[in-house]
Amino acid sequence: MAFLVSHPDEVKIVSQRFGLGAISIDRYLELNGYKAIQKTLAMEPDTIINEIKNSGLRGRGGAGFNTGLKWSFVPKQAPKPKYVLCNGDESEPGTCKDRLIFEHDPHAVIEGAMIAAFAVGAHTAYIYIRGEYRYLSLIMQKALADAYARGFLGKNIFGSGYDLDIYWHGGAGAYEVGEESALMESLEGKRGIPRIRPPFPAVVGLWGGPTVINNAETLASIPHIILGGADWYASLGPPKNGGTRLFCLSGHLERPGVYELPMGYNLKKMIFEVGGGIPGSRKLKAVVPGGSSTPCLTADEIDVPMDFDSLMKRGSMLGSGGVIALDESTCIVQFALRTMKFYQHESCGWCIPCREGTDWLKKTLARFHAGGGIRKDIDNMLYLSENMLGRTFCPLGDAAAMPTIAFVKKFRSEFEAHLEARGCPFEKAGVVEQLPVLA
Ligand code: SF4
Repeated sequence: MAFLVSHPDEVKIVSQRFGLGAISIDRYLELNGYKAIQKTLAMEPDTIINEIKNSGLRGRGGAGFNTGLKWSFVPKQAPKPKYVLCNGDESEPGTCKDRLIFEHDPHAVIEGAMIAAFAVGAHTAYIYIRGEYRYLSLIMQKALADAYARGFLGKNIFGSGYDLDIYWHGGAGAYEVGEESALMESLEGKRGIPRIRPPFPAVVGLWGGPTVINNAETLASIPHIILGGADWYASLGPPKNGGTRLFCLSGHLERPGVYELPMGYNLKKMIFEVGGGIPGSRKLKAVVPGGSSTPCLTADEIDVPMDFDSLMKRGSMLGSGGVIALDESTCIVQFALRTMKFYQHESCGWCIPCREGTDWLKKTLARFHAGGGIRKDIDNMLYLSENMLGRTFCPLGDAAAMPTIAFVKKFRSEFEAHLEARGCPFEKAGVVEQLPVLA
């Protein structure tokens, strides 16, 4: 995939330094780097939190919670140290944006973490990077060393009297650790499985201290909001959905890549204009709008603004910004199977509905796709998925169930066609399937 792409509709904020050499601290400084933290250090913490709250910035990892509001839950006085964590465990299939930020603008993540830490009164922060992103971890380690060497981290940063240490930490390659409480377990050196909540991390988090956990794109947005102002940032998107988003366009598109577009950008336009439409003369069948865990939209459902609330009203989610286009050559049963294989493999196995449900669904889909299905399987897959929803310990169970429900409900005729053909009708008709690449 050509990651560094551009389109006239882009509004480059988080991506403005991509390709400009900002991996070097000198270049980052030339490009307005570390100005926002200096401005922040002269502000009151409550003012900073309100600024972020009013900007309408919502978590770019997937949950979409208002970032400033999340910060405001951290108690001012706490018996234990407070922490800021950057969640760089980007693992959702279809998503490859944090990777670009770490690769091209690592200091923006550091600066965003510094601002978050100062606002909530933390003196330690961690940047947790997905295990498979080893080369990015090296970039981040160098960026942190450079920031320390300039005196931007450590004691009395920028002569403010404020001390802050930031550490890098690498994951071991588990999707589950992208869940914030599992990430904290991993960081503490334990197996990466989720914690019981409440209490929530803002009150009892890392090593029992109040903790803010933000996605890498969220943190990289913070310095721009501090410099540009909350009103400017909020005005870029629809109400309560401020700013821009790095959308990762993949699948059957002429121009896949990562594009920074305003929140609320129309999905149909994103597919047919920004992404260049479907290659050849094939037609669009479906779009997965926010990473593999989000329910797909059919081709006639994609005239929708890409923001958290509009997608929710349309029965799907904005998720992690991974937009996957599927053309008419795609066998939906096979795509559902590939998706389920991923979730079955990544289930941590702790709770029964997820551990057994994903395994059962994977086996049924595999048998069904191979021609061994019976009519009752279709309703059974739906029944099982619907009974996983909300009954698992962490959102991975829902992440596996939601796309399956949408595939079965919206493409039931394709499932029935597998029964009639005693196998995959696409394969039997000699359709050369163009399965999209999932990052
Ligand atoms: Fe583990 Fe799945 Fe249960 Fe989450 S939902 S705790 S991943 S078994």
